[in-house]
Amino acid sequence: MAKEKDNTLRLKFDSSRNLAPALESRSAAKIDSKYDLFINGKFEKPDSKKYFDTINPADEEKLSEVAEANEADVDKAVKAARNAYDKTWKKMPAKERAKYIYRIARIMQEKARELAIIETLDAGKPIRESRDFDIPMAANHFFYYAGWADKLEYAFPNRKANSLGVAGQIIPWNFPLLMAAWKIAPALATGNTVVLKASETTPLTAMKLAEIIQEADLPPGVVNILTGAGTTGAAIVNHPDVNKIAFTGSTEVGKIIQRAIAGTDKKATLELGGKAANIIFEDAPLDQAVEGVINGIFFNQGHVCCAGSRLFVQESVFDEVIRKIKDRLESLIVGNPLDKNTDIGAINSRAQLDTIHKYIKIGINEGGEMFESSCALPSKGFYCRPTIFTNVSQSSRISQEEIFGPVLAIQSFRTDDEVIEKANNTPYGLSAGVWTDKGSKIFNLTTKLRAGVVWANTFNKFDPTSPFGGYKESGFGREGGLHGLSPYVHLGSY
Ligand code: NAD
Repeated sequence: MAKEKDNTLRLKFDSSRNLAPALESRSAAKIDSKYDLFINGKFEKPDSKKYFDTINPADEEKLSEVAEANEADVDKAVKAARNAYDKTWKKMPAKERAKYIYRIARIMQEKARELAIIETLDAGKPIRESRDFDIPMAANHFFYYAGWADKLEYAFPNRKANSLGVAGQIIPWNFPLLMAAWKIAPALATGNTVVLKASETTPLTAMKLAEIIQEADLPPGVVNILTGAGTTGAAIVNHPDVNKIAFTGSTEVGKIIQRAIAGTDKKATLELGGKAANIIFEDAPLDQAVEGVINGIFFNQGHVCCAGSRLFVQESVFDEVIRKIKDRLESLIVGNPLDKNTDIGAINSRAQLDTIHKYIKIGINEGGEMFESSCALPSKGFYCRPTIFTNVSQSSRISQEEIFGPVLAIQSFRTDDEVIEKANNTPYGLSAGVWTDKGSKIFNLTTKLRAGVVWANTFNKFDPTSPFGGYKESGFGREGGLHGLSPYVHLGSY
């Protein structure tokens, strides 16, 4: 009987892959052939005179080219930010600052469709994700922090919240516009000015944000947006007139930054990598849990810092859960990110695809049992089938290291204490998920799992009012919510 049911499920899932395409229109997005640097309210040619291509990972076609900022460009941007801080922004009444931030949010909302298409083209992420998560969430961060700008005395009762000055902000490629919003909105609300560097593989929505900032009439120099790779980021980190560094990216680069600013008075927040554990207990609603696991690692190609890339399943339901995961894997639609049916889009770059393939080989060589979806992949572009590994040990590299792709390492457990120990046994501590019917188990685990966020019976849920950040090698400092204001102020007395 159970077998018959399985076959029915497979047939249904196979046919779902043959859905007629539902393509979002690429022509609804305007992408210029070239973008300069956004400094002091204007687009400026780079001192470096260099530009580099940004491509669509879904078909490897060039989308545009963007400027590569060198040290002189960074210096120009920092000077513009300092000037705007001293002459305009820090003197402006907070309620006026709030209006600008609010205006940016409104314009982002108006341009939401175009922003979503550009994000999908540049990053490879499914349009459903850009449209329903990245862009609305980015606008919501501006709305949320616009609300705080003139209420800082309530955020920090009996203390005076003083701005820091110029914030240097460096972001990764997995949530390009959202990460820019996480960084810029609280910095502006607390009266700081900004030099932000977008990721080299996903610069386009940051350039669109620069256009929005122009349209919002933000005073020149309050936000400066640069493009470039690691050397541009390093020039921001090392600039003597930057007061605060806000970095989101890999733990490896986070460590470089921490070393670079040691001994300076720069404040820092580092939002780094993760290796989140999803934990399914035998009393959990299994279908819901499996859906949460799938959502937690495979949607957005596993390009999520808090992706649930490790799964622990209680022994008594292990086989059942694995069967359900395999069935669901077969139903996932991998392909054109602009198609509204697509679950898993393109891997962001060839380099990242190579990294994922390297880890899949490591998993096999370590003795892991691999299962991948049997779906066909597009002939052009960077794609990876959703893949799971069972027979994985605690020490295996695929259960210790961040892969940042659609690869899930699965282990079993018997007791609460065992799974707590296993889940905590990585250098990271960004997020975790617990699936159980018992509130007492949830409370037991949330207090013992060393992770900045622990979701219960859900996964990857975000809200601008909730703080987010890591333990251990996942970094320090919190972004989002009231906590997200603290890294941008020093508190004094009235
Ligand atoms: P990355 O560290 O390679 O690059 C991040 C940014 O840093 C890029 O803009 C890059 O140009 C810049 N950079 C590179 N070298 C630098 C240097 N020496 N000095 C200053 N800047 C430098 O990371 P990535 O591959 O772009 O992003 C993926 C990583 O980001 C993953 O590890 C992921 O977990 C992490 N991430 C963390 C969070 C979080 O909130 N904790 C959120 C998203 C992504």
